[in-house]
Amino acid sequence: MQALSFDNTFVRELPADPVTGPGRRQVHGALYSRVQPTPVAAPRLVAWSREVAEMLDISPADIESPAFAQVFGGNALLDGMQPYAANYGGHQFGNWAGQLGDGRAITLGETVNARGERWELQLKGAGPTPYSRTADGRAVLRSSIREFLCSEAMHHLGVPTTRALSLVATGEPVVRDMFYDGHPKSEPGAIVCRVAPSFIRFGNFELPTSRDDVGLMNKLIDFTIRRDFPELICANGEGSESVRAAWFAQVCERTARMVAHWMRVGFVHGVMNTDNMSILGLTIDYGPYGWIDDFDFDWTPNTTDAQGRRYRFGQQAQIAYWNLGQLANALVPAFASVDPLHAGLQRFVDVFTEADRGNIAAKLGLAACLDGDEELMQALQALLQEAEADMTLFFRALSDVDLDSPDMSPLGHAFYDETKQRRAGPAFADWLQRYAARVRRDGMPAAQRRSRMHAANPRYVLRNYLAQQAIDRAEQGDDAGINELLDVLRRPYEDQAGRDQFARRRPDWARNRAGCSMLSCSS
Ligand code: AMP
Ligand code: MG
Repeated sequence: MQALSFDNTFVRELPADPVTGPGRRQVHGALYSRVQPTPVAAPRLVAWSREVAEMLDISPADIESPAFAQVFGGNALLDGMQPYAANYGGHQFGNWAGQLGDGRAITLGETVNARGERWELQLKGAGPTPYSRTADGRAVLRSSIREFLCSEAMHHLGVPTTRALSLVATGEPVVRDMFYDGHPKSEPGAIVCRVAPSFIRFGNFELPTSRDDVGLMNKLIDFTIRRDFPELICANGEGSESVRAAWFAQVCERTARMVAHWMRVGFVHGVMNTDNMSILGLTIDYGPYGWIDDFDFDWTPNTTDAQGRRYRFGQQAQIAYWNLGQLANALVPAFASVDPLHAGLQRFVDVFTEADRGNIAAKLGLAACLDGDEELMQALQALLQEAEADMTLFFRALSDVDLDSPDMSPLGHAFYDETKQRRAGPAFADWLQRYAARVRRDGMPAAQRRSRMHAANPRYVLRNYLAQQAIDRAEQGDDAGINELLDVLRRPYEDQAGRDQFARRRPDWARNRAGCSMLSCSS
C-alpha cells in the first residue's frame, strides 16, 4: 500500500485556509482547510470492495494487513497523503444555507493508479473539521453500511456514482437522535472510504460567488475544467468562454443522464440539496435515500422531507434542473453573456427527455420510443401506482408475459394488495393488449426483446429492508449480511440461482419500520 502514489492537485493549485486544524470557523478566500482525521479507539475492517481495491492497485494482502484499518480508520497516513476538508455552500430544501463544507468528510489525497487514472480518497466520519458546525464529524454504522453498499450497487447497475473502498468500524460510540424526537441513542461508529475522480459539488462554486469572490470562483472553474474535463480544453482552448460554455453544458448533460438512470432503477436520493450535487454528474452523499418498492411517484424516503416532499421520486428531474439553475446563477460572473448558461439548461431538458424516452423503450423492450409510447408508459405507471405493484418485480416479470395470449399470471407476485390488484385487473388486461399490439409492430424476436428488457430492468436492487436486515445483523456483531448483499448486487441484471430471497416484495413488517421506509438525515 505504501506503493500508492499521490498527486494532490487540489491542495497544490488552489488557495488554502491559512489556519489549520478543526476549530469551527467561517473560511473566506480559500477553497479548503487542512485538517487531520481524528484517531479512533479500535479500527476494524468490516467490509471492502474488491473492484475498487483493484482499481486503486491495492492488493488483497494490503487490505488484510493491520495497516489498512489504521489508515482507512483515520489513525495513520500514507506517504504523500495531504488531508483536507473542502469549503462549500449550498441550497438546502430550496433555501440558501451559506457555508456548509465537509463537516465530516476528509479527503486524504488524489492517488494515480498504474493506468494513469486519478482517484480521490475521502474518509466520511473521520472527525471534526472547520465545517462541522455544531456536529461531531462522525458517522454511525447503519448509515455507513448504507453508503458503502449503495455506492457499489449503483455502480454495478450502471448508474454514475462515487464508489466505496472500505467500511471500517471505529470501536467508538456515536450519539444520535435518529428522529429528532428527544430520544438520543448511543450507536456504533464507522468510517467509509469514498472514491471518485472529484468530490466537487455545485455548492463549491456557489459559496465564493455568494461572497462576491469572483476571482476564487474563476480559479475553481479553471481548475475543474483542467483536471476533470481536459478533453474540452483540446477542443476549445484553456480559459476561453467557449470552454466554460462547453463545460457547463457537460455538467447539465451528465446530471440529466444520472437522474434518468435513477428513474429507470427506482432510486430516490432523498436530499438533492446543491451541496449534494456532484459537478461530475455522479450520485453523491448517500443519506436518507431509498428504493421504490410499490410504484409511487410521490414517495420520499426522507422523514425530514415528509411535509413538502420536495425530493420525491417523481420530482427528481425538476429538482436537478432547479439545482443546475442555482449553479448557473453562481457562474454568471464567469460569462460575458448568460446565453451559454441558458443553452446548458436547455441541454439538460433535451438530454433528459431523450434519456427518458430511451428508458421507456428499454424497459418495455421496444426497438425505439415512438409516438404514443410515452403515453403507453404513463398509463402503465398510473396503473402500477393505483394497484400498488412493485416496480422492480413488475418490470422484470413483464418480459415473461406471453404476448400471443397475454395474461397477468407472470406478474401476480408483484402486487402488495389483493383487493387493489383485483380491482385493477381489467385495466391491466387492456393495457397488456395494447402493449402486445405495440410489440408486434416492432417484430423483434421474443428472445431479443427479453434480453433487452433484462438489461434495463434489474432483478436485484438494494431494497431498504434488505439494507436494514444487514444493518441489524451487523449491529449484533454479524457482518456477513453486508458481504452477502454486496455479492448479490454485483450482478443485478442476472438471475442468480439460490438467491430468490433477495428479489422479493418488501415484507409487511418493513412497511412502516424505521430504516425501511422512514429515514432521517441523522447519520
Ligand atoms: P448532508 O445533508 O448530510 O449532506 O449534510 C449537510 C452538511 O452537514 C454538510 O456540510 C455535512 O458535512 C454536515 N454534516 C452532516 N452530518 C455531520 C456530522 N455528523 N458532523 C459534522 N458535520 C456534519
Ligand atoms: Mg452532503
